[in-house]
Amino acid sequence: MKEFICTVCPRGCRLKVDEKKLTVTGNGCIRGIEYGKNEAVNPKRILTSTVSIEGGLHRRLPVRTDIAIPKSMLFDCMAVIHGCKTKSPVIAGQVLIENIAGSGANLIASRNM
Ligand code: SF4
Repeated sequence: MKEFICTVCPRGCRLKVDEKKLTVTGNGCIRGIEYGKNEAVNPKRILTSTVSIEGGLHRRLPVRTDIAIPKSMLFDCMAVIHGCKTKSPVIAGQVLIENIAGSGANLIASRNM
């Protein structure tokens, strides 16, 4: 049995997930069932970071993945981000790296610069 706090809404239900049966209890609504199952089987997160930028207002540009990626791929993606450099101008939402580290997610700019 694993326990999670559901982060889908501010209510923050305490979920208990039976990993063998994949049953969820403690959820206040149906959305918690899918969240609990995903957290137990294949937890995913939006990855946020910064990359080096030339000619911008600041030296680092905030970036994020456009979809959540498996937690097991976070370090592979960070290794790619570490070597990434870009040039101004950049527009919020602009794709900087497609399919980063084979995750299926794109790395996008989080702001204009
Ligand atoms: S289970 Fe439903 S009510 Fe509870 S935190 Fe998740 S989304 Fe909100």
